[in-house]
Amino acid sequence: MIAGVIAVQGDVSEHAAAIRRAAAAHDVDCEVREIRTSGVVGNCDVLLLPGGESTTISRLLADEGIDDEIRAHVEAGKPILATCAGLIVAAADAKDDRVKTLDLLDVSVDRNAFGRQKDSFEAPLDITGLDEPFPAVFIRAPLIDAVGDDVEVLADWEGNPVAVRQGPVVASSFHPELTPDTRLHQLAVFRDNKAVAPRKVDQ
Ligand code: GLN
Repeated sequence: MIAGVIAVQGDVSEHAAAIRRAAAAHDVDCEVREIRTSGVVGNCDVLLLPGGESTTISRLLADEGIDDEIRAHVEAGKPILATCAGLIVAAADAKDDRVKTLDLLDVSVDRNAFGRQKDSFEAPLDITGLDEPFPAVFIRAPLIDAVGDDVEVLADWEGNPVAVRQGPVVASSFHPELTPDTRLHQLAVFRDNKAVAPRKVDQ
């Protein structure tokens, strides 16, 4: 499996480590490619769109021509996991002209709705498809305030969706890559393969 981590900005190394661990849990060989230029996405089986700063990430994706390649990846039905700023970039609407959203996911988001850096928190979260709560880390997290009919809500927090899926796209307001628990990466990447259905592994 070739996993591409969008690496124009954000917590790239954490996603690279998480996808390696998630693949290892399924005995799948995984080569990670960090993507900073066009021409690489097409070789990837799965993509990770990290947290960071959505205005910067979306601008650099457009500047480099990576944005259309990510759309083509999703149109081909290949998995992508987008977290926090990645969710904002993947959304249909971020209600902020500075974010050129990719429109991979029929949701609208409110940037920074959970507050500032100092309001960061971790909470155990029930996620559809996982049998035990997931330790969800929220840092300047976006709030999903509207979801389209084709979007499945996988988890919510205080009444708002915080993890969603639409076809090959899984996205979260929180940062699964910042915990040792790789189950959301597994859920996103191995979702169609019953032989490698998400399972909990000791880290
Ligand atoms: N608030 C950031 C943004 O709007 C996202 C924060 C994060 O990814 N931790 O881009």
